[in-house]
Amino acid sequence: MNARPYSETFFWKNDRKNKGSFVKANILGQACVISPTVGLIPISYELNSQYIMAFTLDPLPYANDALEPHFDALTMEIHHDRHHNAYVTNLNNAIAGTDLENMALTDILANISKYPAAVRNNGGGHFNHDLFWNILSPKGGGTPTGPLAEAINSAFGSFDEFKATFKNAAMTRFGSGWAWLCLKADGTLCVCSTPNQDNPLMDVAECPGTPLLGLDVWEHAYYLKFQNKRPDFVDTFWNVVNWEAVAERYASAQK
Ligand code: MN
Repeated sequence: MNARPYSETFFWKNDRKNKGSFVKANILGQACVISPTVGLIPISYELNSQYIMAFTLDPLPYANDALEPHFDALTMEIHHDRHHNAYVTNLNNAIAGTDLENMALTDILANISKYPAAVRNNGGGHFNHDLFWNILSPKGGGTPTGPLAEAINSAFGSFDEFKATFKNAAMTRFGSGWAWLCLKADGTLCVCSTPNQDNPLMDVAECPGTPLLGLDVWEHAYYLKFQNKRPDFVDTFWNVVNWEAVAERYASAQK
């Protein structure tokens, strides 16, 4: 994890209980808590690097090789530790010293047209990858159940029809981007794709909605194992989808 090296003031952002507590850097650039009697007290480097950044990279919720033989360990490692990490670092650099440091990422995305391209690309990149890791599981695959299954059948006719629609969205996204299953404002489900690191939460999205399931179709997501065969990558994806996690996202998106 890379701490942003120097800035004058910070808020204690990632600890919900202490959200808004004031942290200030001393002249050495160390994050300090402010004591009325003692002045600035440096906090440990570990805490410093944890709290000094507006956004942080969570570890993968499973081992790099947990999705083998479907998604290979080396791709997962590079994708998370280098690509996702770079989006987080570049997002933090892009928002350093601005009010965006104190905003929720979803609020930033909802107003993304107001912000520089670096915030759009890296804020989207951070959100999208965070979602992606969490809708995958070594125990994934199978079919959705319950209200999510009913909503999929209602929108697409059947689970197989949904998968075909989703695959078409993933295949017809020219260049880099994402395919999505979303909950629209009218309460129905839709499938769409977005370019680059855009997503349906952004105010610039052609298909606005709450993303429930996303598939990264950048070549970095599949090239080591699948080379140019994006269709095989999409077919393999279904073996590792965590439908319980998608169902939870569907339930919370309806609230
Ligand atoms: Mn990616």
